[in-house]
Amino acid sequence: MLNVILLGPPGVGKGTQSSNIARHFELIHISTGELLREEMAQGTPLGLQIQQLMDSGQYVSDDIACGLVRREIDPTRGLVLDGFPRTIPQAETLDQMLAGLGRKLDRVIELRADHPTLIQRMMDRAKTSGRADDTPEIFGERLRTYDAKTAPLIKYYSDKGLLVSIDSLDKIPVVTQRIISVLE
Ligand code: ADP
Repeated sequence: MLNVILLGPPGVGKGTQSSNIARHFELIHISTGELLREEMAQGTPLGLQIQQLMDSGQYVSDDIACGLVRREIDPTRGLVLDGFPRTIPQAETLDQMLAGLGRKLDRVIELRADHPTLIQRMMDRAKTSGRADDTPEIFGERLRTYDAKTAPLIKYYSDKGLLVSIDSLDKIPVVTQRIISVLE
C-alpha cells in the first residue's frame, strides 16, 4: 500500500499531479485545500473562520488540518496527500497517524518551479478557479507563508531519506510520468 506526499509551493501542480498519481496507482487523494473549501461552502462558523485565514494567504491551524486528514484516511487503501503536511507539527502528527495503522510513508515528492512560473500558473488558474485567494497580492503572501512554514519540511524529509525532488516545469503528462517512474 503506497503512501505518498506531494510537496511544493502553491501553483506548482500538486493538485493535478496528485489526481493523476491517485488514478494510476488506485490511491485515495486527500487534498486539504479542497476539504477546506468544502467546509467553507457549508457556511458554518468553522467555515467562516477558515475563509478569513485562506483569503489572507495564511494557514489554518494544525488541529483543523490534521482533523480533516484523520477523517479521510482509509485503513485499507494507499494514499496520496496533497497540501498536507504543511508544517513540521503536521508532519509529526502524520507519522503518528500512519504508525497507528501499521503503515509508513514511502516517498515524499517535492515538485519544483521558479516564482515567475508559479505566478503565471496562478493567473491562468484564476480565470477558471473562482478562488478568492488566486490574486497577485494574496498569492505573494501564500508564497511567503510557504517559505516560512512549509519549506522546512524539505530538510525534514530529506533527513529521513524519503525526499525526491522533481522539476515541474515541463508539460503535465511528462511530469506525471517522472513521478510514476520514481514510485514504481
Ligand atoms: P495551493 O497549494 O495552491 O496553495 P491549496 O488548495 O492546497 O492550494 O490550499 C489553499 C489554502 O488552504 C492554503 O493557502 C491554506 O490557507 C489552506 N490549507 C490547505 N492545506 C493546509 C494545511 N495542511 N494546513 C494549513 N492550511 C492549509
